[in-house]
Amino acid sequence: MTITAGPESGLTTGLFIDGAWSHAQDTFADLNPATGELLAEVSSGSAADIDRAVVAARAALEGAWGATPGVARGALLHRLADLVERDAAELARLEALDVGKPVGQPGMLDIPNAVATFRHFAGWADKIQGATIPTAGYLGMAPTHSYTVREPVGVIGAIVPWNTPLMIAAWKLGPALAAGNTVVVKPPEDAPLSILHLGTLIAEAGFPAGVVNIVPGLGETAGAALVAHPGVDKVSFTGSPEVGRLIQKAAADTFKRVTLELGGKTPQIVCEDANVEQAIQGIAMGLFFNQGEVCAAGTRILVHRSHYDTVVNALAQAADAQVLGDPFAETTTMGALINAEQQCRVLAYIEKGKAEGARLVAGGGSPDEPGFFVRPTIFADVDNGSTIAQEEIFGPVGAVIPFDTVEEAIAIANDTDYGLAATIWTQNVSLAHTLASKVRAGAVWVNGWAAIDPALPWGGMKASGIGRELGWAGIVANTEEKVVTIVL
Ligand code: NAD
Repeated sequence: MTITAGPESGLTTGLFIDGAWSHAQDTFADLNPATGELLAEVSSGSAADIDRAVVAARAALEGAWGATPGVARGALLHRLADLVERDAAELARLEALDVGKPVGQPGMLDIPNAVATFRHFAGWADKIQGATIPTAGYLGMAPTHSYTVREPVGVIGAIVPWNTPLMIAAWKLGPALAAGNTVVVKPPEDAPLSILHLGTLIAEAGFPAGVVNIVPGLGETAGAALVAHPGVDKVSFTGSPEVGRLIQKAAADTFKRVTLELGGKTPQIVCEDANVEQAIQGIAMGLFFNQGEVCAAGTRILVHRSHYDTVVNALAQAADAQVLGDPFAETTTMGALINAEQQCRVLAYIEKGKAEGARLVAGGGSPDEPGFFVRPTIFADVDNGSTIAQEEIFGPVGAVIPFDTVEEAIAIANDTDYGLAATIWTQNVSLAHTLASKVRAGAVWVNGWAAIDPALPWGGMKASGIGRELGWAGIVANTEEKVVTIVL
């Protein structure tokens, strides 16, 4: 694979602050996960760079952007959606190159979803309304007239992970901009390129300078500086629970609002009456899509005992059938993990699974080639209390667990620190609704995996996060509700 993302390709790898590109003093190396080779040297934003970006964002908020009506904000978001659509092939190429995923996957999910998200929130921008609320009057002396308005929270710090960077950046930018906020985006250091390209599109769309600022950099420097900055009103974070915890603690110092979208350990429940063939296809996708580096990856497969052997064998076959390799080869169905550390982490979980007595039925190691690949791996007879069933692996590793009764399935599904999503495979409408009501998760899908949509609220219960983004919930999360009372 030739290196095509460096400065020679014309891709900007600097800082986008106040509508202009500049370079930081330091750089960090962005590697190609499929080869381990250098893709680009990217500007590594410092605390001073973050400060410049926050100052620019505040000035834009208090200047022209603050006076821009919703209908004009919506028009800009529509223009941005058009530009992302125009550059869809290039953005998919950057995502495949930088994340290591097969290029067809961002073409199918990440980029169209980003376009749909910008369009969805373009539609909200001029429809953010308050309410008129009847009240009893002022101390018995005079009647009152009360109403609410939704105002932008202010300057939003948006911190993005590496697994689907463009899409998650859109999830944060769409609602924030529709509601009239300004934003400083901190892209992931492992895969910043698509968000940097988005910066050029934001400028081309005509957003005023300072409305969106993009500061690539390391988490512990640029990310931490953004969270600590007193000029940031809210942090919208997607990433690991460990960093989410740090962010919530740091945000408390300045009473910042936070939205945290964290990890998951999604159960996929195959009921006795399920269409097993359909379930197997969906489960395989939920395990292997994006190399399993998906917050909602369906990694705990709970199977009614009557289908247990069938599902275990079929998933082992599906794992063996995956073709690992060059993200740009037509035959490739699974790419590389993001970096060497993640590869080691996932391999260590596989060893732990074996050591804790689970039965390895497919995969279980890395191919002997360059790049950070891990073979798709299936464990059967997994105890839900074991490490591989409890901890988020963030790689292509599935744990299959049998159950006998619906009550048992619910108990196992909920026996986890996480609560992001769940999938239920059943043809019984009543059972589907019963299970959907009992499972503690922010999203429940019946007979499909990861049916996400920008119109639907997204977020987790328990350790999977705090708050919701997308849909009307995304507007609520990006506004402050103010009440005005007039004593008549
Ligand atoms: P991560 O927490 O390591 O990093 C996420 C972002 O936080 C990066 O931009 C990183 O630079 C930044 N960061 C790191 N340390 C920081 C600090 N001290 N202060 C401020 N920012 C800091 O996560 P990751 O490895 O990039 O992503 C994987 C995790 O993200 C998984 O746990 C996954 O489940 C989760 N995720 C969740 C969702 C969701 O919607 N719930 C979506 C995708 C990924």
